[in-house]
Amino acid sequence: MTAFRCAREKEVADLLHRGHWPQACPAELRAHVDKCSCCAELILVTQTFQQARAEAVVMPRLDAPGVVWWRAQLRRHVRDAQAQGEDRPTRRAKSREQR
Ligand SMILES: [Zn+2]
Repeated sequence: MTAFRCAREKEVADLLHRGHWPQACPAELRAHVDKCSCCAELILVTQTFQQARAEAVVMPRLDAPGVVWWRAQLRRHVRDAQAQGEDRPTRRAKSREQR
């Protein structure tokens, strides 16, 4: 069994990949797409993949829970040290070494 492939499919694919569909598409080709299920399907599938890829790029990348916890612990440690009058948590450790 061979699937029907439209002769203008490559033309439509080129327009899609360049981002020229539908604004920069000739009216004659647009009229063809309105009647051709093969080209219409190609447009639907390609645009769906392009949209999914665009959304994946825009989505924020979240840190792993362990990294978030570690940062919170570090911030708490620094805040506690500052509350005790020390500007740097490592100063206490250094002063202990010198004794
Ligand atoms: Zn076609």
